[in-house]
Amino acid sequence: MSFKTFNRIYIHVPFCSSKCAYCAFYSVAGAAQPRIENYLEKLRRDFKKYAPSCPAPQSIFIGGGTPNSLNASSLENLFSIIADSFNLESVSEFSIECNPESLDEKKAAVISKYADRVSMGVQSFSPALRKVLGRNGNPETFYNALNLLNSKGIENIGTDLIYAIPGQTLEEWSSELSQAVDSGVKHISAYSLTIEEGSSLASDKNIKVPDDELSATMWETAGQILGKKNFLRYEISNYSRPSFECRHNTDIWLGDTYIGFGPAASSFDGSDRWTNPPDISQWLAGKDPEMDIITPEKRLREIFVMGLRLTDGWDIERFRGKAGNALTEKIIGECQFFSSENLMEITEKNLRLNDKGLLLWNTVSSELL
Ligand code: SF4
Repeated sequence: MSFKTFNRIYIHVPFCSSKCAYCAFYSVAGAAQPRIENYLEKLRRDFKKYAPSCPAPQSIFIGGGTPNSLNASSLENLFSIIADSFNLESVSEFSIECNPESLDEKKAAVISKYADRVSMGVQSFSPALRKVLGRNGNPETFYNALNLLNSKGIENIGTDLIYAIPGQTLEEWSSELSQAVDSGVKHISAYSLTIEEGSSLASDKNIKVPDDELSATMWETAGQILGKKNFLRYEISNYSRPSFECRHNTDIWLGDTYIGFGPAASSFDGSDRWTNPPDISQWLAGKDPEMDIITPEKRLREIFVMGLRLTDGWDIERFRGKAGNALTEKIIGECQFFSSENLMEITEKNLRLNDKGLLLWNTVSSELL
């Protein structure tokens, strides 16, 4: 396979201390240390091989799994092989996902040497709802972890919340949002619970999730409560203080190139997309990634609908630069229908979904694909 250059780097750490009930991300719970050493060694080789394809990375995102489930010395090893392989001078945002329960003084010190942005999953502050999600730990550990990171000089911290949890009321959701704001984080992601096939929640026949109407009201409530506190929605599920948007993700939603390392990680070179095997043994054995083969027009449409997830939508000239004039005009023509349905706003320069349209993004995107 020959590669073009990539602007962004994603590294998937496929280890967690235990498996959450709703999770369908690829991760292995309780991996032994030799497995982790093999993983790091393979990453080191892959970084070396592909570093020439990333001469000036703009951002790095270490996700998972739970990256900080690695012990402090493995975490240090991970960061140092990244720093040895890539030119970090061009990197303007270096993020890592953390689980508050697995953070300690030593790991926070390692993280603060390299990363400048931490995304910490709390999911819910309610002990009862955390139990439904199968999350270990309690909200106190989240506040302790925040203090620890702040004490090491990291201020750009975000958190993830989940809504539409079985049994959750609108009042409880409002309280979750307020607690997240009051914690002092700069970024909040709020995702509706999806019961993914393969998760342990999916096999629980007694589970009853909030209906679509309540789920939509919870989404609207998030926009209202967070908006009043100067957390602006900039993507369907993401809110931030001004200028604290996740630049890594934002540019990827707008079709930027990225290379993914580790099992289950995807890459995109501007036209082709591929995904590493979602299995650590196969990945260690060097199994080829799976190519996602679609027509160039379908790929550009895919990029277009991903950009519609952003509240600012598309700068039409930016999309024209990727797709050319004919396809851009064709898509704008198709979008007139959504404009007439009062889901989209189209001006000479910009094309964006309004709130009603964002809520119906799934439907709009499947029509446009
Ligand atoms: S939700 Fe996060 S912490 Fe829980 S099992 Fe999945 S990747 Fe691990």
